[in-house]
Amino acid sequence: MFNLYNKYIFTPGPVKMYESTLKLGSIQTPYFRNEEFSQIVFECEKILLEILNAPKGSRVLFLTASGTAGMEASIQNLLNTEDKALVINGGGFGQRFVDICNIHNIKNYNHQINDNNLKNTEELEVYKDATALLVNAHETSVGILYDLESIGKFTKKYNILNIVDAISMFITDKLDMQEQNIDVVITSSHKGLALPPGLTMVVLSPMAIKKINPKHQLYFDFNSYIKDGERGQTPFTPAVLIILQLHDRLLNIKKEGISFHNNKARDIAEYFRKEIEKLPLEIYSNFMPNAMTTLSPLDEKSASDIVRDLERRYNCVLTPNGGELKDKVFRVSHMGDMTKEYVDILIDALYDYYKISRGE
Ligand SMILES: *Cc1c(COP(=O)(O)O)cnc(C)c1O
Repeated sequence: MFNLYNKYIFTPGPVKMYESTLKLGSIQTPYFRNEEFSQIVFECEKILLEILNAPKGSRVLFLTASGTAGMEASIQNLLNTEDKALVINGGGFGQRFVDICNIHNIKNYNHQINDNNLKNTEELEVYKDATALLVNAHETSVGILYDLESIGKFTKKYNILNIVDAISMFITDKLDMQEQNIDVVITSSHKGLALPPGLTMVVLSPMAIKKINPKHQLYFDFNSYIKDGERGQTPFTPAVLIILQLHDRLLNIKKEGISFHNNKARDIAEYFRKEIEKLPLEIYSNFMPNAMTTLSPLDEKSASDIVRDLERRYNCVLTPNGGELKDKVFRVSHMGDMTKEYVDILIDALYDYYKISRGE
């Protein structure tokens, strides 16, 4: 047995998976170039479009890759050298969008921000000649959820293609393509959807579909995915088992309702934040998503030491930060199959670690 097993998982991807997902992970991978598998893909697409409230005529592309491939493929397929992208850069993932633009020679405004959720978009007015906006709805490196309503109003006003990396907030936080004026949603299997890593979905509105560049690459050519998707297939071998797991998960989410899942994550996040109030830890961001809590030590302890100790002594896996935030913050995810009982394991571990009693 690897020592990787049997840990309590509080990382923002991969996240704790549901029992039925784990069961499906152990079956023989079926052949997929047939009608039966096509129906599964069609149903996944249909439910995804429903829970995203996507505009009529939107499509879902299923890419076999991690989330960053969805970010890069979207830029390669939807933007060209005539475009000017406005990147909302509030941390590591915003910077990744800037890096992708630069590698592919896409002109870009790099708008760096800190502890600002852009509820007020006045500061974006200077970029109104941009043709596309790139934002990570939840900037996972620091735990900031941007105000997608305000950003959507801004992009609509100036006819800017609104490309949203929703990877770390889909399912746990509100995402609505029509209400929030979103043209492209990028999401991935191993965050809020609570599946293994390896599948990334790009959802395109009809306006985004019109912008797809002519074919200039093979594997991630969106035109091929659109065309093969019409018969419920992908151009190349997909992550078959993850698609089966996705199908199972989506049926459940549809049955329970997406707002049930948003609320469940909110309740878990609020419970955790309330229960740790007595500890010498401070909430790091003013604009936290339901998906995750970012904490900063109030005492002399280093955040990365806390993460190391919690894993060694209590088997609870949290996420440290790198760079200049290494000692300042760590992160606790609320995505996936979370219950209060499961979160209690971490809360009790933290109280024991600080040798403070949890009760009154
Ligand atoms: C996890 C994540 C990604 C994708 O990272 P991969 O390692 O490629 O899966 C992209 N954007 C955000 C905001 C993320 O949290």
